[in-house]
Amino acid sequence: MAETKSQPHDSIILDKNPKIISILVTSRCNLRCVMCDHGIREVEKQDFDSSLIGNMGDSISRASLVDLTGLGEPLLSKLFWEILANHPVTEKTSERDFVIYFNTNGTLLNENNIRKILNSRVRKIKISLDAADADVYYKIRGVKLADVVAGVRNLILKRNSLHRDYPRIGIQMTLMRENLHQLRPMIDLCEEVKADFFEVWSLNNVDESLAKIYIVDRNGWVFNYHEQMLDGIPKDELTQVIADFHAYARQKQIPFFSVVLGKRTASEDSLSDDCWDDTEVKWREESIRCIIPWKEQRIDYYGNVFACCWGPRPIGNIRDATLKSIWHGEAIHEMRRDLIDGKVPRLCVGAACPYLIGRSGAAAAPPREPSSATSRPILWKILDRFLRFVRRP
Ligand code: SF4
Repeated sequence: MAETKSQPHDSIILDKNPKIISILVTSRCNLRCVMCDHGIREVEKQDFDSSLIGNMGDSISRASLVDLTGLGEPLLSKLFWEILANHPVTEKTSERDFVIYFNTNGTLLNENNIRKILNSRVRKIKISLDAADADVYYKIRGVKLADVVAGVRNLILKRNSLHRDYPRIGIQMTLMRENLHQLRPMIDLCEEVKADFFEVWSLNNVDESLAKIYIVDRNGWVFNYHEQMLDGIPKDELTQVIADFHAYARQKQIPFFSVVLGKRTASEDSLSDDCWDDTEVKWREESIRCIIPWKEQRIDYYGNVFACCWGPRPIGNIRDATLKSIWHGEAIHEMRRDLIDGKVPRLCVGAACPYLIGRSGAAAAPPREPSSATSRPILWKILDRFLRFVRRP
């Protein structure tokens, strides 16, 4: 159990360091998946300013989980490989030392990259595969499924040959109408490649006016975000499909975790969030029970530090202060205090996060009728907030 320290607000007990550090390593991606920012527009190329890595002090080695993330494919980031190289597996490495976590589209799992991954302290890898059928996968991701599956299979085989539990290697899927019938085949695929777990996240519910402008034409197949969202499916029908997937995963003994239209379900043996769960906050009846500012710090490409992935305003910048002093600083402390007191924190105002839905100070409703070209930049800004939910490589 981490050491704790009392803060002036009597309800706040805080770990000395954040358990989770998320670093946005790159926005560059080699794919253009239809449901991602990269599928619909030119994404500005951004890489984490690696000269700032020294300003993080020992926070990385003290964290339980270091999430190397961003809008892009992390394996394209120089910093990603530097962090892995700086955290090698040695004879002294214990289970706790495996802290690095990342999502990947799996296209760059060649022999050399697999060797570097397995030589480093990677705890968990999620590989995004949205279908087990080559044609459906190609429509969504635009590359050949067989090549990616070969890399995933090789990674798992090589990990197994080391007789190590880590990294845990799982497959995740963004669920939409186009691949709803792929749930069972995906479980078969997990079984075939011997994946450690399977995760399913449904396409987010985006406001209708936004979803309707999100249209991608892929060689004659049109991805219409609005039509692909699951909320138009009769509830009984969708419930049956999801129950069937859960039953099939249990039958095949594949640990699973799913978030479908906001409903989270995890199998008894789910490996989800395996090192996040011992943070406790003394909530009050009126509290907004968002625990993230007690667990996480998220650093963007320019060193701005955020409390979470939804927060619209930073709580500091590692150019001006250490990560540790930001963790104990007044800005984040005010945020924690407000959450306990049931007030929307100043720095959270405008966030489209699940904790603030329906509260005053939460994200403003997007305009209903996007009618002119000039309204599009505003719409894109609003869409940006929603896309944070679906950004997966
Ligand atoms: S924006 Fe939402 S998720 Fe982020 S810290 Fe505030 S309440 Fe929590």
